[in-house]
Amino acid sequence: MKNNPTQKTENRLSIFWSDDYVVDSDVETRTKSGPLAAILKSGEVPGVEILAPAPATREELLVIHEPQYLDRLITGDEKLARSILASTGGVRDALDAMIKYGKAGSLSSGLHHAKPDEAFGLCYINGLALAALRAIDHHGVKKVGVYDLDAHCGGGTFTMLGDNPNVILADVSCNTFDSWKPKSDRHHLKIVNNANEYLEAVRIGLAHLTGVDALIYNAGMDPFEDDGMGGLPGISREVLAERERLVAQWCEDTGTPAMFVLAGGYCSSKSDLDRLARLHLMTIKEFARIKTNNPAWRKL
Ligand SMILES: [Zn+2]
Repeated sequence: MKNNPTQKTENRLSIFWSDDYVVDSDVETRTKSGPLAAILKSGEVPGVEILAPAPATREELLVIHEPQYLDRLITGDEKLARSILASTGGVRDALDAMIKYGKAGSLSSGLHHAKPDEAFGLCYINGLALAALRAIDHHGVKKVGVYDLDAHCGGGTFTMLGDNPNVILADVSCNTFDSWKPKSDRHHLKIVNNANEYLEAVRIGLAHLTGVDALIYNAGMDPFEDDGMGGLPGISREVLAERERLVAQWCEDTGTPAMFVLAGGYCSSKSDLDRLARLHLMTIKEFARIKTNNPAWRKL
């Protein structure tokens, strides 16, 4: 990365993205980062810098996926493969930037349903698992938290990380898709059915993550009431804005290094791609706002 050490004390937020993330498709997972990157490039959020990631390699993906599955994926549809490798590389680079600067993100999504040998629910590579294992194995982080606030459950992530004693999983969903059964006090899953209970469930999820040394945040916007795939009536834009404030403020207050990815969020007859990008922008504004230079921050 082209980071200038003299900028380290600034409240910089490095966000990874490149044109390769975007594929001409009717699946928002492959399109929505484009309009979001355009907003960021306009300078609307001070302190944000957009960096192109190095694509993920087959070798590094072998940590979490079966070789035959990877070969099929990489030699399949060329544009899709390029998008998947670029956006997964962005997750890895965001993890490294988080370790260095305390906060970072990637405009990646589709990272929590994939299983070791198959794609599932629009997800091909489990980028959350890749990032968590890299934090532990490459950076020596003792306790990594994964907070999944996508509308759908992160059963793929549980499959890959559930037995890892260095990983704390918290998952607050509002849809039973890809649900999983906690089997340790390191695991927390709450499926919310009533929007009035949502923010309290988010707070309880954060409490479950107390003591982690770093946080990987799957910041799905598909709980939104007008979402086309996962929305729950009553989870308004304002509720999601408060959710993003709660999560980011928790990171600042606890001095926990954190990185985010976009996760789910879909258009509907009531909500178009620009509106969706504006929802995801709320996560970025909160991450840009929080300060990573308080003395308690450097846990790593
Ligand atoms: Zn989802």
